[in-house]
Amino acid sequence: MMARRPERLSPGRTVILFAAVAAVSVTALVWMGARLLTQERALEAQRLQERREAAADRAVAALGQLLLADERRLTSPRGVDVVAGDDLLVVVASPAGIRVLPANAVPFYPVVPAARDAPADLFSSAERLEFAERDHPGAIALLRPLALSGDPGVKAGAELRLARNLRKAGRPDEALEALNRLARGTGTVSGVPAGLVARSARCLLLQELGRGDQLRQEARELHDGLGSGRWTLDRDTYLHYMGQTSRWLGQEPPAADGRQALAEGVCWVWATLGATPGLPMESMGRRSLRFNGTAVTILWRASADGVTALLAGPRYQQRRWFAPVFTTSELSSFRISVGNRRNDPIDGAPPVTDLPTTVRSASVTALPWDVSVTMANPGDALDSFAQRRRVMVFGLALVVLFVIAATYFAGRALSRELAAATLQSDFVSAVSHEFRTPLTSMTQFTEMLVEDDTLPPDERRACYEAQERATRRLARLVESLLDFGRMEAGARPYRREPLDAGELTETVVEEFRQESGCRGFTIECTVPRRPVPIDGDREALAQAAWNLLDNAVKYSGDSRSIRVEVGAEDPVAIRVSDRGLGITPGDERRIFKKFARGSNAVAAGIKGTGIGLAMVRHIVGAHGGRVTVESRPGEGSTFTIELPAGRMNPCRES
Ligand code: ADP
Repeated sequence: MMARRPERLSPGRTVILFAAVAAVSVTALVWMGARLLTQERALEAQRLQERREAAADRAVAALGQLLLADERRLTSPRGVDVVAGDDLLVVVASPAGIRVLPANAVPFYPVVPAARDAPADLFSSAERLEFAERDHPGAIALLRPLALSGDPGVKAGAELRLARNLRKAGRPDEALEALNRLARGTGTVSGVPAGLVARSARCLLLQELGRGDQLRQEARELHDGLGSGRWTLDRDTYLHYMGQTSRWLGQEPPAADGRQALAEGVCWVWATLGATPGLPMESMGRRSLRFNGTAVTILWRASADGVTALLAGPRYQQRRWFAPVFTTSELSSFRISVGNRRNDPIDGAPPVTDLPTTVRSASVTALPWDVSVTMANPGDALDSFAQRRRVMVFGLALVVLFVIAATYFAGRALSRELAAATLQSDFVSAVSHEFRTPLTSMTQFTEMLVEDDTLPPDERRACYEAQERATRRLARLVESLLDFGRMEAGARPYRREPLDAGELTETVVEEFRQESGCRGFTIECTVPRRPVPIDGDREALAQAAWNLLDNAVKYSGDSRSIRVEVGAEDPVAIRVSDRGLGITPGDERRIFKKFARGSNAVAAGIKGTGIGLAMVRHIVGAHGGRVTVESRPGEGSTFTIELPAGRMNPCRES
């Protein structure tokens, strides 16, 4: 039974093994890299959040201090006067009444001074003449003395009625004059200041008279007067007259401006704090409110005496609170937004909701607003992260490349070693076989000669001849192995001499015919008639040609025809062709390497050492030539030795 050959690690398997190792290492590296990146991103987000938190705390503290400074003014008796200014009010409210500083700062008030009207029945006679009897001159005569009264209320009531009767009596200019006098008075009519009533009545009369230009001018003055807070009005009166004036001016009632918002704030203070008993004693408060879209911040201090409140409009808030805090160098890289709620900013940049935001809610900070903080340029932080990520990815890619390259080179070196070891071991077994064959036949024939004395002479001779052939084969094998060894070591000297390639080839073919056991083969040899000069070592070149012939016989398969041809061109070509197995295309270069055997030879079970062609290549190369092959699997091969043409040898020239 044949012992099973231990399974060896083949070069192919080595490559797969190393590829697997590389794949596992690379996967592990990539996984680790991805984890590292995720972690880095989380760290970056955390770092940014910490910066935002710190900025939010700083902004809250700074805003708190500014508010505190303004609140202190409320507590100092003189501070109230000091703070009153543009877009800022101080309201002092108690159940007894309300005082707003500065004076005329708002267009309307929650409470107005008591009316200074005339007694209602004073004008009853004049009104009877006017309405029941339509006796306007009579009514005018009754009203004129009353219009001279020292009581502002009586004077105002009389002038208004006088103007009305003059108009009805068809004396409009006198009516306008009466209204002018009314406008200068200080009394009230139905609780409305005489000045306002007079101007409004003049406008009505001008409209009736169709005096458009004059109407517009007076309506403009009335509008400005209402807006400037010239008259102390309640909210409804203000809105009524403002609406009327706007119609005369042919425009929409003006949108609520800052002053109107502050007026609403004053009403809120009165309604919520001033007039409400039961507020905690000595309490402080902060509140941000929006009136018709305008944000007003109210700071107040309540005591048993009443409430002192500071009302700040948008301009004051921006100038005194927000700008000084938000533009500091520490906070300039943040976008800070202050709002009643997170998405209702009253100042600062509107928050960008899709960015990470830190919010300090009013309920926690005791500020009147929520404070939201985002990065001013989130792109910068992202850029620096992207840069770090690029460096990491690049580093990782380098490591991965290094691992792949290292694995590749190590794998290649190992598979080459394995291939060399395989070749060597195949070579040893091939050489042993090559030795064993002639040795076996020598042993057989020697035994026959020794054991059988009766062998007829011709058989005896055949035995001796067979012994001689086997001996020659052994000698040639040993010789070629030694030669190859010497060639490999560079110890084979080549003695160059002028040769005739044709003659050399013919001689080799002739010897081959006689010496090798290639009976049945037709070896056709064609050489030029004239000498083909080359310079070379006769023995070495004969060896090379012999090897090609030997291979042609060995790999001829069923074909028995070999052709040898010498071409006289330069370079000189010695071609050996057969019609045998041929060579698979992938083997054409490889078979010239030492110990390399073609797949055709292995598949056909033809034994060999793999040094024949390596020798040919070595010898031809040493002569400055080359050996090539043209082949088609199954159709045969042509090996060509090309040698540089040499000098003419005059002795052999024909
Ligand atoms: P060996 O013949 O001992 O195997 P060689 O170096 O002489 O070693 O040849 C190397 C290989 O080249 C052979 O194994 C064979 O596959 C291929 N070969 C050489 N000569 C021929 C030929 N004439 N026809 C087909 N294959 C050949």
